[in-house]
Amino acid sequence: MSARVLVVDDILPNVKLLEAKLSSEYYEVLTATSGMEALEKVITESPDIILLDVMMPGMDGFEVCAAIKSNPDVAHIPVVMVTALTDSSDRVRGLEAGADDFLSKPLNDTALMARVRSLVRLKMTVDEWRAREITASQLGVSDKAPSVMSEPVENAKILVIEDMEFEHDKVIKTLEKDNDDVTIVTNGPDAMTKISEQAYDLLVVSLNLEQEDGLRLCSHLRSAEKTRSIPILMIAEDDDMSRIAHGLEIGAHDYILRPIDTNELLARVRTQIRRKRFQERLRASYEVSLSMALTDPLTGLYNRRYFEVHFQKLLQKNMTSRKPMSVLMMDIDHFKAVNDTYGHGVGDEILKEFALRVQDKLRGFDLVARMGGEEFAAILPDVSEETAYIVAERLRRSISNHPFKCAVPEGQISVMVSIGGTIIQPGTQQALDVVLKQADDALYAAKGNGRDQCFFDGVGKLNPEDHLPTPRQFIKD
Ligand code: GH3
Ligand code: MG
Ligand code: MG
Repeated sequence: MSARVLVVDDILPNVKLLEAKLSSEYYEVLTATSGMEALEKVITESPDIILLDVMMPGMDGFEVCAAIKSNPDVAHIPVVMVTALTDSSDRVRGLEAGADDFLSKPLNDTALMARVRSLVRLKMTVDEWRAREITASQLGVSDKAPSVMSEPVENAKILVIEDMEFEHDKVIKTLEKDNDDVTIVTNGPDAMTKISEQAYDLLVVSLNLEQEDGLRLCSHLRSAEKTRSIPILMIAEDDDMSRIAHGLEIGAHDYILRPIDTNELLARVRTQIRRKRFQERLRASYEVSLSMALTDPLTGLYNRRYFEVHFQKLLQKNMTSRKPMSVLMMDIDHFKAVNDTYGHGVGDEILKEFALRVQDKLRGFDLVARMGGEEFAAILPDVSEETAYIVAERLRRSISNHPFKCAVPEGQISVMVSIGGTIIQPGTQQALDVVLKQADDALYAAKGNGRDQCFFDGVGKLNPEDHLPTPRQFIKD
């Protein structure tokens, strides 16, 4: 997994050292020697990860980090602060400015590479969701991408797996500040029981458990369906560095060293909660905007845009298919009169019921779409010509023979539909617009020919008597 890393340090030899280490692991390295230059490069080059020195003349690392994290266009890029400071209040200051991690100088190579790899992986996930979000906003309606720093950090559900009792109180008291709901267990089996009972926002796992291997537990949590997407924060000893690196490698998100500094714990927990909520929000807004862009809100059917894209794919598949496919265009007869007589609200009710009836009469894999107004379309893959006629007639009867119940004085309204159909022979190459025009022309002919009928391209009006299902055919009517 290659990535672009921006290294920021005012001392050139430091930059060169990091550049050499990262290049040897096949990362592409960009460099900056001041805060201002760093900010410029972040915006123009959009790196995948930023290694940021804290002590720089002019604009220091905290300020650079805060500026990055307050710009929604680049706030999602992970920032690792690199510092000679070991004072935990500095770490906390950095984390509060939105830094994703701290590494101390002199840099431990294992820690550096493990950290870079895990943050690059995280960035890839966020990038994927951001890309979909952008597609969604191009397709239709979507809010501007939210920013990670604006996510709330309070009221998280946290499960702590730690058997050192003296740490329990400290963890609970610390996380109380954010009103977090903290559950503590002392072993893996108890953790799995708790996890099956409720959803957590964060798992805090000790790598120094007496009874079992915390690393193995992390690995299990990463692969189990229920916990796969919950962030993991490891608690470890200073000399556990290679196990920490291994933990990050298998997907744990972060770690904290003993003795646990409470401010640092709080800051790291907040970072994880914020990120999790950010990703969830991206995903949710993507799903909403996607469904808004591709479906019709009144009937819940697919819209024309989706229909055309999907139909194009089916036409390609048709070239190698062995069975015909059929397209039906349906348009409600004299629908304007329904609106004019009873009002738009009643018209809407009829459109909804119409959509339900059509879906009910088709197979699950037939595609039904609302093309606009009172016009609907269906694609029936894998049907013989005769079956297509039977299905079209059955659809027409399900509308025309059964008045629609609605809130009008008469209690119901009779609605008729005209259907135009075309058959696509298997193994042929057909253009989307040509096929749609054939179906449209057939629909137009059905209208001109008296409405309330099915009319097929190249065949003409179907005689309803000729296309009744035979007892052997399982067809809903
Ligand atoms: P025809 O038999 O020739 O199809 O006649 P028609 O009246 O159905 O066709 P026309 O195209 O003249 O009118 C379609 C009507 O459908 C006009 C419009 O008010 C109505 N319509 C379109 N979209 C909606 C909608 O979302 N809700 C409601 N209630 N009516 C709609
Ligand atoms: Mg109509
Ligand atoms: Mg119309």
